[in-house]
Amino acid sequence: MIEFGWGAATDIGRIRSNNQDRLLVSAPMFVVADGMGGHQAGEVAALMAVESLAENTTPTSVEEIVSLVDHANTVIVDRATDESSMRGMGTTVVVLVGLELDNGPALGVANVGDSRLYRRADDGLVQITEDHSLVETLVRDGRLSHDEAAVHPQRNILTRALGIDGKVLVDSWLLTAVVGDRYLLCSDGLFNELSADEIYTILDEVESPDTAARRLVSEACAAGGRDNVTAVVVDVVDIDRPQVASHDRVVEFRPALPTAVRRAPVVVTEGTVASKPVFTWRLGLFVGSVLTVMTVLIVSVVIYARSGYFVGIDGPEVVIYKGRPNGVLWFDPTFEESVDLSVAGLSPADLEEVRSGVTFDSLGEAERYGFELYFRAEKQP
Ligand code: MN
Repeated sequence: MIEFGWGAATDIGRIRSNNQDRLLVSAPMFVVADGMGGHQAGEVAALMAVESLAENTTPTSVEEIVSLVDHANTVIVDRATDESSMRGMGTTVVVLVGLELDNGPALGVANVGDSRLYRRADDGLVQITEDHSLVETLVRDGRLSHDEAAVHPQRNILTRALGIDGKVLVDSWLLTAVVGDRYLLCSDGLFNELSADEIYTILDEVESPDTAARRLVSEACAAGGRDNVTAVVVDVVDIDRPQVASHDRVVEFRPALPTAVRRAPVVVTEGTVASKPVFTWRLGLFVGSVLTVMTVLIVSVVIYARSGYFVGIDGPEVVIYKGRPNGVLWFDPTFEESVDLSVAGLSPADLEEVRSGVTFDSLGEAERYGFELYFRAEKQP
């Protein structure tokens, strides 16, 4: 068992007319959700995420945490589909859960969107989660520095959120629990106002998790409060069966997408980067979906272009090609094998047929057709 200490605070901030952040503190589960959407929809989405997760606060594995997040997504998507006023609503979610594994207690983490989980380490603040945002993609791509990203006008554009699509991509982590570790779950309203150093200082100097959470939120409001601000501070107070921990605590990180795909899903020209914030988080999601669809299409075209065989003509000879007659896009068919038959031996009907390219799924079938042609040619007068 892990014994936790915790404290939480949330504030509307100084500019927004409503607070669309929601939090859940129900040891061993801790959640922050940051809703988005017009009218009351953002609040509804964040509340639904938290309520859905609250139905089972004692998952027993990281997989189960991911499936709980998946379920929350389904619930929100269904409501957004059924109620026109809720259309387009979405929410981020970051979840930290104490787990009882066979080999001892551990921490499970799941994340979608740009709310964050941090750990206070001996030497500073460690960000555990990766933001699913446009600017984070640009940073990973080397097109933006961390400092530029922190003040970027489009830093609120998300590439993933709950409530948008029936299938949601959830990143997850398994962490070793260590007595004395302090975790912070927070919405972007916190880290957009306070630097990592400022957050670390408060986490490090304020002993009570409750006071630390309230101090973090009040200082973010004082620093501007341009968005809703939420902080949940979680202390690992005691563990009955401690495990040996690596320095970074990460036993396993399971990104929902492979690195290659995470690296370059969004393309933005210099012009749009420099212009006013015309993007919305929804457009970010839209761009992400379009790029996913395009990737699938391109892969399908490549597979299609290189699949199958056909019997065709190469100069005076009948041969078997791999690929599609006339090629597909820039994928030309390639010579596979000879049928040992000259075009001159074909009947006019067979010649006509072979000229257009006769396609087959497998090389065997193409070879069989080649033999048929061969024997028909032999029988020709
Ligand atoms: Mn926010």
